This record gives sequence, C-alpha cells and structure tokens, in this order.
Amino acid sequence: MTDRQRIAVLGATGSIGDSTLAILAAHRDDFEVYALSGYQRLDKLLQLCQKFKPSRVCVPLDKVDEFAAKLMQAGLATEVIGGIAGLDDMASDSAVDTVVAAIVGAAGLPSTLAAARAGKRILLANKEALVMAGQVLISLVKTHGATLLPIDSEHNAIFQCLPPSIQQDNSQIHQPYHGVRKLWLTASGGPFLHHSFEHMQQAGVAEAIKHPNWSMGQKISVDSATMMNKGLELIEACHLFDLSEDKINVVIHPQSIIHSMVEYSDGSFLAQLGSPDMKTPIAHALSYPKRIDSGAQPLDLFALSALEFIAPDLQKFACLRLARQAMQAGTQATNVLNAANEIAVAAFLQQRIRLTDIAAINEQTLNQVVVPALASDASIEDILAIDQAARRYAETVVAQLA
Ligand code: NDP
Ligand code: MG
Repeated sequence: MTDRQRIAVLGATGSIGDSTLAILAAHRDDFEVYALSGYQRLDKLLQLCQKFKPSRVCVPLDKVDEFAAKLMQAGLATEVIGGIAGLDDMASDSAVDTVVAAIVGAAGLPSTLAAARAGKRILLANKEALVMAGQVLISLVKTHGATLLPIDSEHNAIFQCLPPSIQQDNSQIHQPYHGVRKLWLTASGGPFLHHSFEHMQQAGVAEAIKHPNWSMGQKISVDSATMMNKGLELIEACHLFDLSEDKINVVIHPQSIIHSMVEYSDGSFLAQLGSPDMKTPIAHALSYPKRIDSGAQPLDLFALSALEFIAPDLQKFACLRLARQAMQAGTQATNVLNAANEIAVAAFLQQRIRLTDIAAINEQTLNQVVVPALASDASIEDILAIDQAARRYAETVVAQLA
C-alpha cells in the first residue's frame, strides 16, 4: 500500500472531480485520495470527505471554521485549509505526487502554477491556465521537472496518438523524422450545430447548456455552445504540443467518437476513439504509461452508424476565429480573450445578455484592451493584471448590452 500514488483533486466537487473520484474509488490499491478542494458545493465536499477520508481539504477562507466543525462532528481528522493560499499549499504539498487541476476558469491558474513549481505530475483539465499563461506554465514545468498530462479529451487523444519521445518532450515534435504534419481537433459542434444564428440569439440558458454528447460543468457547456471551448482548446493545443495555430485544424464531428487526430507526412491519420466519457482520458493520465480500467462503457462499434466531419462555420461560431486571432497576437491576447469570455459567460448564465453577445463582448474586448506582451518568466501578478484589465473592460461592454 505504501507506493500508492497520492492524489490532490483541486475542483473535487465538479464534473471532472466526479469522474476522477469514480476512478480513484475503483482503484484504491493504486491511488490515495490525499487532498480535495471545493468552493460552493461544500455539502458535497463533506460527503466526499466521509467517503475518501483525505488528509487535507481546502475550502474558501471564510468557510474554514464552519467546515472544520462539520468534519469534527463527523468524526474526521481531515485538516482544513483555506483560500488561494490553501490551494497553492495543497498543490505543492511534499506528500502529493499528482495534482488533478480541475478548478474552472482563471481561479485554477495559481494552484496549477504552484504544482508546476513544485515539480508535480499535473493532470490538466483547467485549460484556462494555458490560455492565460501558456509559456509561463510550460516553462515552469520544464524548469522544475514537472509532468503535464492533458485530460481534456481532445488533447489526451492527440497525446495518445504521438510517439513516446514527443510525449516526454514536446519540442521533439519538430524533428522531421517524426513526420507530424498537423493536429486535428474534433468538436461536437454543440447544441446549435444545426440551428441558425437567429435561433442561437434567442436561446435560453437551459438550451445552451444541454450538450448533445457530454455532461459537463456550466461554464464549459456554454463555451461548447459558442465553440469558444474549441477556441480555448486550440490555444491549449498550441502550448501543449509546441505548435503554431496554423498547424492545428478544427473539424466538427457531431458523434464525438473520434476525440482528435494526428496527421503524419506519409498520409497516416492516427485517431483515438472511445465513448464520450471523461473517465477514459482521466484514467489514461492517472495511470500513464500503464493502463487501467476506467469504468467507461466500451465503444460499441456495431451500434455506430456514420461518422460525420463538417467544417466549422466561423460566422456563426466567431469565438473560434477570435481564438486564432488572439493566438497569433500572443499570450497576453489569449489572456484577454479568456477573461472577456469568463465575464461574458457569467453574464449569460445570469440572463443579463444573449448567448450571441458572448462573441461580440469577446471581440470588442480583444480588440480594445491594449496590454503589454507576457514573457515566459512573467509573474503571477503580471498575468493577473492583464486578466483584471480585460475583465473591467468586458464588464463595461456587458453593462452596455444588458
Ligand atoms: P464544474 O463547474 O463542474 O466544476 C468546477 C470546480 O471548480 C468545482 O469543484 C468548483 O467548486 C471549483 N471552483 C469554481 N470556482 C472556484 C474558485 N473561484 N475557487 C476555487 N474553486 C472553484 O466544471 P468542470 O468540472 O466541468 O470543469 C473543470 C475544468 O475542466 C474547466 O477548466 C473545464 O474547461 C475543464 N474540462 C472539463 C471537462 C468536462 O467534461 N467537464 C472536459 C474537459 C475540460 P464548487 O463546485 O464546490 O463550487
Ligand atoms: Mg475538450
């Protein structure tokens, strides 16, 4: 039992947290649930503490005493820490081997950077960290000997389709003998693929977050509806695989069976297929380079009808175009885009703006907020200063539209 991998799940109460903990529960001999974090769903976090008995748990700062009292009442010895510093502490805890970075949005950035600085094995769900601070995170990973394993399904698929030498060192992707020509990110197209822009304009929250194939948190579900998610993933892929955006194609594949592909110079396309279930990429990354049972339903090939491939409509899904524009401009611009999008998505979820306003807010913020370039050794303060400037501007655009 002593060589169990010790895991910290940051964002344990969310959708990725659910899938991760389902795998960890089924493999208790291989993994120890050492630390968990939650934010608002603290009743759920308490149940998780009762089930997994972690050594440490992190909650918002103003909830520490109350949560500690509840744990005591439940007879649990779990240590409670709080706030952003608590998350950093958990991510860099010397007892932790693996950090599952599954907090949503910019809130996940500091702890992901802390995990990199501490040389951890990082299972990255929080794509926003790479969008806000790609080179900074990658450079910390390299300097401190951390390991970054993607659990976003598309990136995990691409990772699986690359040779081990590129998996271990992404700069190897440029070796001509590997013959990597392009990456193909697949997208489901979301709930509005077959609807008009006018229909999207009128869509309410319930319709927008009802994803055809995946069950996910609210923010990423809205991102999927606008295809900003694929834009964020394009940026994520550039950093993870050390490629410029023109080397990455996006194709809509409504069945979500092929999770992404690598195109090679000899004409081969390598694809990873599976049921649309996040447990597969998470299990892959948890046990990499070994394989374990993820608990996902095996793909029933005979039940599949056709696999379709459609080019995305960049007028209807302008966020995808904006992501390429921002990536060409640099990380400061992708940071601005991410911040604008978080503000716009929150405003949509509060029913203050229309779904289609999100792209307009993102575009205006991206074009109007002028910020300095971000170096690969930029501080967290530099990164967050850009994020904050973009948020302030995006809020004013929301106020005009609301
Ligand atoms: P959820 O909304 O389901 O979960 C988000 C988690 O983050 C929850 O544990 C939440 O706590 C916590 N959290 C939210 N805000 C804060 C904050 N300010 N400080 C600390 N913790 C916070 O999201 P998902 O699980 O769907 O997504 C998580 C990340 O994974 C996102 O970056 C998403 O893009 C990415 N991802 C998700 C996929 C999916 O299938 N769900 C697929 C690929 C990537 P609480 O619930 O207690 O408030
Ligand atoms: Mg994805």
